Amino acid sequence: MPLYDADEALLSDLNRITRQTKDRLRSLAVENEKNEALWRRERRTLKERIQRLDRDIERVNYEMLSEKARLLTKISELSFANQNRKAELVEMKLALRLSREELLRNKTEKKRQTVLRDSSCCICIKHMREPAALPCGHVFCASCLRTALSTKMECPMCRKAVASANKVIKLFF
Ligand SMILES: [Zn+2]
Ligand SMILES: [Zn+2]
Repeated sequence: MPLYDADEALLSDLNRITRQTKDRLRSLAVENEKNEALWRRERRTLKERIQRLDRDIERVNYEMLSEKARLLTKISELSFANQNRKAELVEMKLALRLSREELLRNKTEKKRQTVLRDSSCCICIKHMREPAALPCGHVFCASCLRTALSTKMECPMCRKAVASANKVIKLFF
């Protein structure tokens, strides 16, 4: 092959390679731009999702804190109410005890008064004064009984003998 022809062939090869390389570079550039656009879009989407998640997290946090505060308030309200109820219960118990004692006192007093009112001495036929009983069970005024016994040592009612004046029992209502 003559030298000239060889140069021509070399030059032609060079041109072809240059052209191919340029084409390849161009297509790479286009592809790169496409990829970059895709990547930018992807990045934007991801950023938006992150922002949405951040907002969601903030909202959920806020809701949880509100709920927590509400529950704490409820707990303190309940324990306050419970304390009040306990105090009320203690007061009621005390009042009940006092009124029961009062009732008992009233009952005893009424009984005493009834016994005194309903009993009259069968010696003086009057309301009993300082009641005194004999072992037979009969009751008279202490002074009436003393007088009766000074005459005869027996019960003015049933005539049962009385051994001694020491057998007289003073009654207290
Ligand atoms: Zn009497
Ligand atoms: Zn008697």
